[in-house]
Amino acid sequence: CAVFGVFAPGEDVARMTCFGLQALQHRGQESAGIAVGDGETIMVSKDLGLVTQVFDESRLAALEGYVAVGHARYSTSGAAASWEAAQPHISAIDEILIALAHNGTLVNTNSLRARLIDEGIQLRAGTDSEVAAKAIGSVTQKTHHLREGIRYAMQYMEGAYAMVLASPDTLYAFRDPNGIRPLCIGKLPEGRGWVVSSETCGLDIVGAEYVRDVEPGEIVRFNKDGVTSEQGVEPRKRASCIFEYVYFARPDSVMDGQSVYQARRNMGRILAREAPADADLVLGVPDSGIPSAMGFAFESGIPYSDGIVKNRYVGRTFIQPTQAMRQLGIRLKLNPLPSVIRGKRLVVIDDSIVRGNTSKKLIEMLRDAGATEVHMRIVSPEVMWPCFYGIDTDTRDQLIAANMTNDEMCEWMGADSLAFISLQGLRDSLPDVRTPGYCEACFSGEYPVDIPAYTARNSFM
Ligand code: 5GP
Ligand code: SF4
Ligand code: MG
Repeated sequence: CAVFGVFAPGEDVARMTCFGLQALQHRGQESAGIAVGDGETIMVSKDLGLVTQVFDESRLAALEGYVAVGHARYSTSGAAASWEAAQPHISAIDEILIALAHNGTLVNTNSLRARLIDEGIQLRAGTDSEVAAKAIGSVTQKTHHLREGIRYAMQYMEGAYAMVLASPDTLYAFRDPNGIRPLCIGKLPEGRGWVVSSETCGLDIVGAEYVRDVEPGEIVRFNKDGVTSEQGVEPRKRASCIFEYVYFARPDSVMDGQSVYQARRNMGRILAREAPADADLVLGVPDSGIPSAMGFAFESGIPYSDGIVKNRYVGRTFIQPTQAMRQLGIRLKLNPLPSVIRGKRLVVIDDSIVRGNTSKKLIEMLRDAGATEVHMRIVSPEVMWPCFYGIDTDTRDQLIAANMTNDEMCEWMGADSLAFISLQGLRDSLPDVRTPGYCEACFSGEYPVDIPAYTARNSFM
């Protein structure tokens, strides 16, 4: 998901949030929402669809105020697209009114939900994010201090959360103690206010200057008294999602000091050394495979070429909820260029193989277009384990690398050869990260935050 927040008296904060969410649209396309506080109350507007489908002039004009939070949703396993699940979530318990936008997934939602139900608190969607909003609201109602409500919730929430929260007059940003999902702070010019965004590309679009990332376990507060920071919960072992660099983030973002674009180039270069291929051309699978393909070409000396054209108007295929839609999605989305490919031996670079649909279909299309050999090179290691922290990499039985050897996969997808970057190679692609320490669970199976009930549900492991 994408989260975005603004504190800027005198600015059109709803419009800024709308722009911010558009820059972050790649992080989720199911629903979009904006909540605005004007000092007295909070108004929220949200719906299913892309940011530009949900927000038009009249809808934005109705959102007046000086503090805003926004969200674009990507639903994780099981949770269907629904209006109730769209964010920001409002919690109104007595006089305590807040709006919360969450990126990540909590792993102990069930026990949190049970506590709230015991207290007689009504839940509409029952999602982890709604539960978090209500938990914060419920404690705040007792203590009358929002920071205590947030701190309390942070003591109890387990899993991944990068959150922005608005009261009628204040913006808060806070992040789980492992720092799994990203969140950064920017400053508008001439002291006009503050912006918080999942990625720096959201700061760029509103003209905010990057200041720093929100630290793991930190709560940052922005209001008319200025900016304050406190530790909501002790930081734990750093575990930033390494997959953000591989696939999720936009290439023009910088995460914890590391340019995502440069990281992807480095991955291609390192993979060219780890798994060279004898070929005539290097192609990248658009969009996320392109910088890595350029890196691979640079390092190997094999020329890079465009060779697969992407339809800009089709969303991310992976995010389609069913397998049939995903299959069709790949055809709609990618089309090879026969004039480039015919008679050529290709190295094809993609960012990841999850279920294997993309590679299998693509190889078939490349052969139909006249490729004589197709060598698949993947700039992430084998995805063997599900993600429980906000990216839908599915259950183990769906993950092709968890169920086949490399040779079996290569044969199944019809490639001449197949290789993945090593985990160390991937880490080495991130030389500029200020505080290294990654979640790599989908590759290694080592989960930085325990998953209650996981072993029970997947007893075959
Ligand atoms: P597959 O077809 O193997 O299931 O998916 C791999 C392809 O899906 C890659 O081309 C990758 O760019 C894309 N993809 C889109 N969204 C995601 C995501 O959330 N996680 C992963 N791992 N890959 C994704
Ligand atoms: Fe990221 Fe993978 Fe960890 Fe999920 S399991 S947070 S995708 S590294
Ligand atoms: Mg892709």
